[in-house]
Amino acid sequence: MPETIKQQILALRQALRTYNYEYYVLDDSSISDHVFDQKMAELARLEQDNPQYFDPHSPTQRVGGEVTKHFKNLKHRYRMYSLDNSYSREDLLDWEKRLQKLLGTDRIEYTCELKYDGASINLRYENGVLQTAVTRGDGFQGDEVTANIKTIRSIPLLLKKSMLDTFEIRGEVILPLDGFKNMNTARLAAGEQPFKNPRNTASGSLKLQDSAVVAQRPLDCLLYHVVSDDLPVSTHYETLEMARTLGFKVPKAIERCASIEAVMQFIETWDQQRHQLPYETDGVVVKVNSLSQQDELGHTSKAPRWAIAYKFKAVQQSTVLREISYQVGRTGAITPVANLAPVSLAGTVVKRASLHNADQIEKLSVRLGDTVYVEKGGDIIPKVLGVDLSKRPVDAVPVQYINHCPDCGTTLVRKEGDAKHYCPDSYGCPTQIKGRIQHFISRKAMDIDGLGAETVELLFSEGLICNYADLYTLTASQLEPLERMAAKSAQNAVTGIKQSIEIPFEKVLFALGIRFVGETVARKLAKHFRSIDGLMKADMDALLAVDEIGERIANSVLEFFGDLRNIQLVNRLRQYGVQLMSNESASLAVSNLLQGKKLVVSGVFTSFTRTELKKSIEANGGVVAGSISAKTDFVIAGDQMGPSKRAKAVQLGIPILSEADYLGMLKK
Ligand code: AMP
Repeated sequence: MPETIKQQILALRQALRTYNYEYYVLDDSSISDHVFDQKMAELARLEQDNPQYFDPHSPTQRVGGEVTKHFKNLKHRYRMYSLDNSYSREDLLDWEKRLQKLLGTDRIEYTCELKYDGASINLRYENGVLQTAVTRGDGFQGDEVTANIKTIRSIPLLLKKSMLDTFEIRGEVILPLDGFKNMNTARLAAGEQPFKNPRNTASGSLKLQDSAVVAQRPLDCLLYHVVSDDLPVSTHYETLEMARTLGFKVPKAIERCASIEAVMQFIETWDQQRHQLPYETDGVVVKVNSLSQQDELGHTSKAPRWAIAYKFKAVQQSTVLREISYQVGRTGAITPVANLAPVSLAGTVVKRASLHNADQIEKLSVRLGDTVYVEKGGDIIPKVLGVDLSKRPVDAVPVQYINHCPDCGTTLVRKEGDAKHYCPDSYGCPTQIKGRIQHFISRKAMDIDGLGAETVELLFSEGLICNYADLYTLTASQLEPLERMAAKSAQNAVTGIKQSIEIPFEKVLFALGIRFVGETVARKLAKHFRSIDGLMKADMDALLAVDEIGERIANSVLEFFGDLRNIQLVNRLRQYGVQLMSNESASLAVSNLLQGKKLVVSGVFTSFTRTELKKSIEANGGVVAGSISAKTDFVIAGDQMGPSKRAKAVQLGIPILSEADYLGMLKK
């Protein structure tokens, strides 16, 4: 019996939920990313074509899109307490004594967990469905951030099985170190300020107004506390196991401990091993395991008596600052970097640490030759925390911050409100020129296959390119003589450049390298203005009207398009066929381009539903026919075009256009 559309949709949702769980909770996927993407696209298409089966808990709803201007304040049913801290074995023994006295027994079992460093969240489930997600706030009430939380793939929207009808569960929203590093690398490449540390970035992400932006952030949620009036188990450890069975991500590093000695053992083990964890932890949380003992102990005005946090000591080392070097970014920003005598820190050898900017150097009043303290956090490179003045050599040299660009010698500028110095000679400073071209070809921008940063260096030093538009004039015979190039690789590079003209407008906008216009901002600007011409015409007010665009970004856009050299570059890109208009805009085009033409549509499309495509053809003067005949002028083929249709079109010699060809035609 053929499946109904509804059955197909339900089966796909179920399958995708399982894949999500395997991938994001168990970290063990049974299918490839490609197959996952295909299934997700299929579900999205079925849901779009059959809106009567919409479900807010469908896996397709994880991509966000809901914009919250003001977060609703919700009162917590159960107060969210803080934790008391301890720093030594003695502190823990004192705590145990207090517990024994209050409970009147020596028999206390504990559960140890890591203290995850992020933002706490309270999730409420009713009949197995996620209802609300609320931040801790002041402990009594917090902000409702459900739309943002739904984008975190490891948080189940529907529970696998429901042992409890209605309950709340608490956890920590974190940003794993890898994801944090990748985000910062992308931000630096886009000339944006890197995020400071994973914790602030995680909590800041929860308060973003646009959930689609949150969906782009690789957030995760680790759960540590089930709250309910009628728990079917009697210990905290069992509640965690139960949460895991329900589909929540409960880290493996939890342990039942029969004594404080065993607790100390857990702490010592994780103090060593924490540097291998994929996320940050700043300690261990020790909890009384028996739920009835927890009840008996209760809370102080601030924290539960039955739990205590043990804080690890921060990983610091001291070493000698040998010299300071200055790096120039592709936007001209100067970053001072401390070159250190190599020192082993949290499992790696550290030779360099960030000094951020001139103010930071002044604040630390650091001198060359000083012994400095360095700390490794979640940041990309370690930072210099302070100076050990007792070790200052008599001949330590005060730091003279540079006045000129270390690359091109231009006098540096520092605008009001900027923390950094900049080299203003964007078009003369080789590092900036090469940096911009390298950014242009990068994966998240024009994604040009066959060209790498080193080839760009060579092309620039050989005088073959001076800007990114020059890339489109390169021939294989110019590339072939370069070091490490051969006939095939030269041809691949030229093909890669040629293919990049298909890259959608939003990525092109990111590729242009406008300061402060990272991936997300580019997407927003492209969506709002729809074409480079629309954006170039925008004045300050028009730019500020775009969601989340402030004066800093608006100024930078105006400055970019106020420079004739940039306008010339854009015009050259236009001439080479680079996409400077969004597909959305092209799909709404009205013209008489297809006047008198008969077209047949076949397959599945990404920018249109089939009905939209048919409407677009008619809006441009064409007629849509149901089947291919000798009178057909073009066939527009999407994915999965029927093989018999394709054979017929080929047999009759009718041109077959792809979706991109069609959009390209409209854009012209
Ligand atoms: P503090 O903010 O220092 O008072 O610490 C309390 C916070 O630690 C809680 O609100 C949680 O967000 C967080 N936390 C992280 N990991 C855990 C854990 N395993 N158990 C309880 N709380 C935790």
